[in-house]
Amino acid sequence: MQLGFFFDQFRCSGCEACMLACRQWHGEDDNAVDLLSVSEMEFGRFPLPTVKWMVVPCLQCAEPACQAACPTGAISKNPENGIVAVDREKCLGKDACGECQTACPYDVPRFRDEADAKMVKCDFCEDRLKEGKKPLCVIACPMRALDIGPLDELLSKAGYVQEADGFAYDRAVRPSVVLRPK
Ligand code: SF4
Ligand code: SF4
Repeated sequence: MQLGFFFDQFRCSGCEACMLACRQWHGEDDNAVDLLSVSEMEFGRFPLPTVKWMVVPCLQCAEPACQAACPTGAISKNPENGIVAVDREKCLGKDACGECQTACPYDVPRFRDEADAKMVKCDFCEDRLKEGKKPLCVIACPMRALDIGPLDELLSKAGYVQEADGFAYDRAVRPSVVLRPK
């Protein structure tokens, strides 16, 4: 089974509560890095302007470019749920390597601003999933714009697709993402 990330672009209001919750859960300090991004796009002109947002965590790709690029085998994909994880003991760090960050088409792998920082990235809050809880970003969203679930179930819903303004589906890595475009 492959878990996927669902983002409802129609519902998202760009409040960034998801990003804030993620940041606080994973430790907020001067070197903290965000494990999910919220980007804003403007369309049209006054008097009919439109704003859309795109939220991107790690998309637990079917063919992870980060895993293929890692020279030490530090990145692995869980065969039970498809979550891509990094073994930080095996990671060489950003100064000696950083290949995963270069390879990822969605700029997901992150390194704290410190010497020999090891890679960190979103893992769909796997610890919470094991306890039967949803990821923090999903819980925090006041618009109910985010969810995590089996990819095939998410894709079976009418109108749900894998491309939207602000997001291009990369066929080489096959991101586990389902979108409701605005
Ligand atoms: Fe790896 Fe990037 Fe895909 Fe996440 S989104 S699994 S970091 S290639
Ligand atoms: Fe959009 Fe929900 Fe994130 Fe706010 S918390 S930016 S509404 S996805």
